[in-house]
Amino acid sequence: MNVKRFQVKPGSTVHLEAFDPDATPGFKDKQDAADDLAGNLAKLAALQEKLYAQGTQALLVVLQGMDTSGKDGAIEHVMGAFNPQGVQITAFKVPTSEELAHDYLWRIHKAAPPRGMVGIFNRSHYEDVLVVRVAKLAPKKVWSKRFEHINEFEKMLSDSGVRIVKLFLHISAEEQARRLTERRETPEKQWKFNPGDLKARAQWSLYQRAYEDALGRCATPWAPWFVVPSNRKWYRNMVVSQVLVDALEGMDLEFPPAVENISTFEIPPAG
Ligand code: AMP
Ligand code: MG
Repeated sequence: MNVKRFQVKPGSTVHLEAFDPDATPGFKDKQDAADDLAGNLAKLAALQEKLYAQGTQALLVVLQGMDTSGKDGAIEHVMGAFNPQGVQITAFKVPTSEELAHDYLWRIHKAAPPRGMVGIFNRSHYEDVLVVRVAKLAPKKVWSKRFEHINEFEKMLSDSGVRIVKLFLHISAEEQARRLTERRETPEKQWKFNPGDLKARAQWSLYQRAYEDALGRCATPWAPWFVVPSNRKWYRNMVVSQVLVDALEGMDLEFPPAVENISTFEIPPAG
């Protein structure tokens, strides 16, 4: 599938209303996408092994989205294809007092994936221009400078061999209502029900505007943003898997050369 249509053009103004969270172009239903998804998951496993073996580059996947948009689900169903040994997942929560005593990128930079690894950010430095802006945790003169910081920071990572892809899991307000209700009603899901999320929902439009600015101002050639239609979980998984396959396939991954004259090594009897 071609995911170009979901990529935000650098320098563009984003209108989220123009992106349909129900859209499933290319596939009729979950059944229809099943083989392609399985194929992508197999590719991800093989590509990751090369990334790890090569050990010179890293992949950073940034996951953002409103509550219930499926960040955890994408990690489970797509990143689950990777060998856990080569993956480093970081969930960014409300900053601790130690984190708050530093600049906002301090905790982010520490979590950047080392060479050979896939790093997954469940939320990220983008919270510092999203919740910080909407909940007024810092004044505009503070957060408005951050788009530029972020672009420069991501450029530095990219120049250091970290390939970056950023995914905004786009759901509708109606779909969020369904998912929050399901969380409230289902015993196995109630642990995820956080009354604080209802406050963010009440500020839905403000968050959508904040996302539009973050997506538009930080869509760069070195760290592209994708708007992933996420009302259908199967389609979300399909798109996320394709973005990751494309990113890894674009990285010139090769196994490192074997030791010289490998075939001349005799395996000795165990001593
Ligand atoms: P969850 O992803 O459901 O575990 O929730 C994590 C919470 O931490 C969300 O409400 C985020 O908005 C919040 N959070 C993450 N990063 C920041 C930040 N830099 N400043 C304030 N709140 C944050
Ligand atoms: Mg939550």
